[in-house]
Amino acid sequence: MEKNSRIYVAGHRGLVGGAIERRLKAMGYENLITRTHKELDLTNQAAVFRFFEEEKPEYVVLAAAHVGGINANQTYPADFIYINSSIQCNVIKAAHDHKVKKLLFLGSSCIYPKLASQPMSEDALLTGPLETTNEAYAVAKIAGLEMCKFFKMQYGDDFISCMPTNLYGPGDNFNLESGHVMPALIRKFDDAKRKGDGSVTLWGTGKPMREFLYVDDMADACICLLEKYSGLQHVNIGTGKEISIKELAGLVKEIVGYEGEIRWDASMPDGTPRKLLNVDKLREIGFTEKVSLRDGIRRTYEWYLSQDEKDLKK
Ligand code: GDP
Repeated sequence: MEKNSRIYVAGHRGLVGGAIERRLKAMGYENLITRTHKELDLTNQAAVFRFFEEEKPEYVVLAAAHVGGINANQTYPADFIYINSSIQCNVIKAAHDHKVKKLLFLGSSCIYPKLASQPMSEDALLTGPLETTNEAYAVAKIAGLEMCKFFKMQYGDDFISCMPTNLYGPGDNFNLESGHVMPALIRKFDDAKRKGDGSVTLWGTGKPMREFLYVDDMADACICLLEKYSGLQHVNIGTGKEISIKELAGLVKEIVGYEGEIRWDASMPDGTPRKLLNVDKLREIGFTEKVSLRDGIRRTYEWYLSQDEKDLKK
């Protein structure tokens, strides 16, 4: 990529897209193309094709997606499969038609089978049944990365894909119903500390294990792949380290400075028991993350405190 290449970051208002846009800007890329959801509805094929015709991007980072935590995924599966499938079909085909030089598609580690052996390598894809709480999202994402692979196989398009682990950081969704665990923990402990509540209730049993990557590290990993990788298979992006939800809750509680008790609501779903990525391939390509979990949580909490309450609780 040249510093004046036309790079379209789809989903720049989201957690990952926002981090990638910030990073590319900081590195001196001067021709970034972005559109808000309002300006361009990526589920509208005609609008997407028109946009590519007008803007002629040379590189595309497809970070736009309809995302949510365990509860949102379970409640609105039709929306998750329809919106995500439409976005990726439209953008990938438009990128092909307009001879985009390189496209990076972002998936998610929930694409792997529920009981895949851990840590999960790229080869675990499509080897068993999926976790039911996010099956609709996973099926759409699997179709997206397979689409990149097949466009590469049939037409030689340089379309690659990556599978990030659970991401967190500034710009995350702090809505308690639809968000993921990290922002939920930060918000719940912070609210309880302010109100002087004696306890905080978290979901499930606290036993599931999860891996977390700070979003700026994710952005750097994406840029590294754009620069160095053109393989057929997707690449896992993670740290290769995991922590139980219970331990994570303890860590967030300490960083926020909350001193009350933690209760577990076992009527809420645990989701998949473990979701650890094998990151050997990423290491071979030459990427290692920089931000520790403690540091990342601290930075995210600082960002959360700097935000206007009404913007966060939408
Ligand atoms: P997942 O990684 O797809 O399962 O999605 P989440 O990030 O939403 O949830 C991860 C784990 O954290 C699950 O085991 C949840 O039950 C647990 N968890 C505990 N408390 C919360 C909470 O307040 N919100 C969310 N989203 N998850 C929670």
